[in-house]
Amino acid sequence: MLFCVGFSMDMLKNIHLRGNVDTKNCSVCGAVIANKNHIGLNKKLLGRKVERFYCIDCMAEYFEITTEELLDKIEDFKAQGCGLF
Ligand SMILES: [Zn+2]
Repeated sequence: MLFCVGFSMDMLKNIHLRGNVDTKNCSVCGAVIANKNHIGLNKKLLGRKVERFYCIDCMAEYFEITTEELLDKIEDFKAQGCGLF
């Protein structure tokens, strides 16, 4: 059951390390993105079908804003009741 199609070794590793399939790796620096809000932010800003995820630092660089501004945006989206956060 665990080895269904598309189930990658990365996912297995994440389950092992975190007990959670929903972690991603930053496509720029490779950092593990385990924060649900940060994953939600990727989906919100880059599209729900995003395949290349960015950690919060690389995302800030990508959008040329500060990490703090990004974190503020997460709070804004939460306040709007966005289901991704
Ligand atoms: Zn990164």
